[in-house]
Amino acid sequence: MDELMLDGNAVAGLLQEVFAVEMTTAVGTCGDCGAPGPVGAVHVYRGAGIVLRCPHCGNTLAKMVKNGSRVWIDFTGIRTLEVAV
Ligand SMILES: [Zn+2]
Repeated sequence: MDELMLDGNAVAGLLQEVFAVEMTTAVGTCGDCGAPGPVGAVHVYRGAGIVLRCPHCGNTLAKMVKNGSRVWIDFTGIRTLEVAV
């Protein structure tokens, strides 16, 4: 873990705001290496937006940008997302 990186818990509030369910315990499967894991364990990088990376292979799982009342989310790097409802 480098000093600019946080874990998935750092974006728990934003994810819960969008999905209206607890997302840190949701299990995502990486679209590149296929490793499953809780969203709370992904690597988070913040800059102009937020980038979530696979802790196993570094694949970009998701990119999020928030501007006022809108959030843009790109989940291209996630194969599946398992959410408790
Ligand atoms: Zn991966």
